[in-house]
Amino acid sequence: MNDRLDQTARPVLVLNAGSSSLKYQLLVPESGEVSASGVIERIGEPGSDVADHAAALRTMRATLAADGVDLDAVPLRAVGHRVVHGGPDFSEPVLIDDAVVARIESLSPLAPLHNPAAVTGIEAARAHFAVPHVAVFDTAFFSTLPPEASTYALPRDLAEQHSIRRYGFHGTSHRFVSQATAELLGRPVEELNQIVLHLGNGCSASAIRGGVAIETSMGLTPLQGLVMGTRSGDVDPGLHAFLARQVGLSIDEIDTVLNKKSGLLGLSGVNDFRELAQRVDAGDEGARLAFDIFVHRLTHYVGAYLAHLGRVDAIVFTAGVGQNSARVRAALAEGLEGLGISVDPDRNEAGGGCFSHAAVISPDGSPVVVAVVPTNEELAIARQTADLVR
Ligand code: AMP
Repeated sequence: MNDRLDQTARPVLVLNAGSSSLKYQLLVPESGEVSASGVIERIGEPGSDVADHAAALRTMRATLAADGVDLDAVPLRAVGHRVVHGGPDFSEPVLIDDAVVARIESLSPLAPLHNPAAVTGIEAARAHFAVPHVAVFDTAFFSTLPPEASTYALPRDLAEQHSIRRYGFHGTSHRFVSQATAELLGRPVEELNQIVLHLGNGCSASAIRGGVAIETSMGLTPLQGLVMGTRSGDVDPGLHAFLARQVGLSIDEIDTVLNKKSGLLGLSGVNDFRELAQRVDAGDEGARLAFDIFVHRLTHYVGAYLAHLGRVDAIVFTAGVGQNSARVRAALAEGLEGLGISVDPDRNEAGGGCFSHAAVISPDGSPVVVAVVPTNEELAIARQTADLVR
């Protein structure tokens, strides 16, 4: 009994290692209580004091100590690592050993910016903390996509040889939010058909039947699907050849244009949604068009997912834009009344339209519940980590 009490008070450290950054959060999975969080940036960049991820962990330790959190005295339960790409191998969180690290590394061709950074972060953390380490994959929740949804219409041997298929991303968030929606509605997740819209800097939509993902908007990489802050989302695949042949761009340049210079930024000059909204209000035509394209693409996916699911119980908004932009939520619902989808203006705009708690924003008695449900990827990773080491 005492042991169990002890166990549930012990925190999990959640690490999210990017190529030049390390985000961390120290929290208790059962209560959600966060005792520390932060981000170390510019790792390995010229002029930075932080040479690599091992140095970043030392910086983290020192920063925490300065804030009164002595990691040597904290009874750490485990470390949970966010890993972007689990490829075809990982459909569940996994306890990390040397073989797992090697497999994550071998998936680097599928996520050249993300997986090598995750491996570096994991290796540094394993050397630093003698507790169980768990990898939680951004793709895992979408391993349930049926073959007709996950397969591109490419030559089968080419696709199979190189593991080319739709994987989907933001899975930790889609899973967490769909479960939190079931709690909000007081119904088992198994009974609910949901469309979850994760709208942040990166944006993705998913169709979830009874808690199981059956469609999602991202694909082999996190570039497919919705319009995002700096990513184009869907374009004609012929665009790549056009840009190479007619414009003379290299593969790397095309990659940079589509990932870093497109989306809201490419259309309007800004990728921050707050600034975009201000420009729309000031009468900026480019910003207006960017907003309209964003909503148009969103409508496109919601329409498709209504058809795939047949019956939808809830449409759920989450992440920075989804939780804070009443304008986007109202714009999506506009004109969809005939499909049973509407938002109540007072509910949608409550608290300035910014939600830190889950809430229903559709009118009472609506055939489709429209809700805002804050995501919390760190808590989701901490819980999955704790479940695995329990
Ligand atoms: P995330 O990636 O989930 O952190 O979301 C980042 C996005 O959320 C950025 O485009 C922000 O501009 C947007 N965002 C944050 N707060 C607000 C707000 N109050 N209104 C509109 N967009 C917001």
